[in-house]
Amino acid sequence: MLQDLLLTREKQQRLNLYLSITTAGEAIHFTLPESTIEGEPILPSPYLKDILDSSGATVQRRGLIAGKRQGLIPELKDAMSRLELDVAASKYFKGPFWPGLRERFGLQRLEASLIDFNREFRWEVKDLEKLRKHLGQTFSFSRLKSYDDCPFLFFLSYVAGLDQKTDHIFELTPLDEGNVYHAVLRDYFSGKGEEWEGSLAENLTKHLLHDSSVVFKFEFARLREILLDYITIRESKRPRLMSGEYYPFDFEKAFGLSGTARVEVIPGVYLRGKIDRVDLDETSDSIYIIDYKRGNSGDKEQLILYSLAADTLFADSGYTVAGGVFKTLTGTTVNRAAFKVETVNGERVWRFVGGRGEGGDWSESDALAWVRGITEGLYAGKFAPVCLSQSGKCFNCRFKKMKRVATWRDGKEFADEE
Ligand code: SF4
Repeated sequence: MLQDLLLTREKQQRLNLYLSITTAGEAIHFTLPESTIEGEPILPSPYLKDILDSSGATVQRRGLIAGKRQGLIPELKDAMSRLELDVAASKYFKGPFWPGLRERFGLQRLEASLIDFNREFRWEVKDLEKLRKHLGQTFSFSRLKSYDDCPFLFFLSYVAGLDQKTDHIFELTPLDEGNVYHAVLRDYFSGKGEEWEGSLAENLTKHLLHDSSVVFKFEFARLREILLDYITIRESKRPRLMSGEYYPFDFEKAFGLSGTARVEVIPGVYLRGKIDRVDLDETSDSIYIIDYKRGNSGDKEQLILYSLAADTLFADSGYTVAGGVFKTLTGTTVNRAAFKVETVNGERVWRFVGGRGEGGDWSESDALAWVRGITEGLYAGKFAPVCLSQSGKCFNCRFKKMKRVATWRDGKEFADEE
């Protein structure tokens, strides 16, 4: 529809131009800038050549007076470096203006490379044996989720190893900040109680890269405020669907990490991770799992997979997971994605508290199908970028600059340029 509208508008503009030219009384002057006011060259209108050829008009050029660079900007190819010209022209490749640009600026060599670059592309890894070896059989939840969000993002991060590290010279990285919260809350709930500020100071010193006392003081005050709010207010806000007398029992319960056994989710596929906190209710032999989140984030699939892991880890003691939640440390929502586990027709079902698209049921077969779908795609070497099928998924992606290349290959030029 939008395309139809644009075509109609272009036709109207052509008609307007035609009418203006054919009804002119004495003469027509076309003016066009060849450079910006700073003297940076501008790619000429693709219609220019047609108009000059068909009208037989004479060209007069005037140099800039107000701009930084005085004098005439000569031919575009002389004003730009060859590379700049290639880059500027490339975005028109495959479009209607390309043949004209190629002839005018001698872009035959560029065309040959663009054709090669634009050859059929399958977004697949061919050497599946090597890929399987590289991937292994054990995945963290965040890796599975990353593939689910965008297979190409997974490829760039974990196959090509292009993950970008952000430089946090002074403050804590988000990862370190999370580690400090986890360690302090572990110490607090496992008996250190009132001494948690000492634990904060100790863990902060361990994770801060900078030994400036000003930075330490600033970060200590910031994290202390968040932790104090959690300990004194947020912790006591009981999640919905949580019934029973639970007490904190285990912390940072690892599986598949630091020598601990991994958990098999589907045949041949294992999970590794760390459950932030496991609470027990001894009267009902139930477990309640808690995952701390810095803000309003967290995916239900993580809680489901961690429930499966906890059931395996505590199987020998006879405890089973009855529910769980994301406990947030900041933000207006304290308990997110609270759930309870029920058995329906002989199958486990995770029932999530409703509200703004967060509710709903996940059966065990849904959860296992989710893992199966992802790992089948991974082992088949399929890594298509999500932007080719869905728009709006790349907004927060650290590789979003690459999206332009993918959409350009698809003939969309740089339409999504920010
Ligand atoms: S920018 Fe979009 S398509 Fe590219 S890797 Fe990121 S999420 Fe995937």
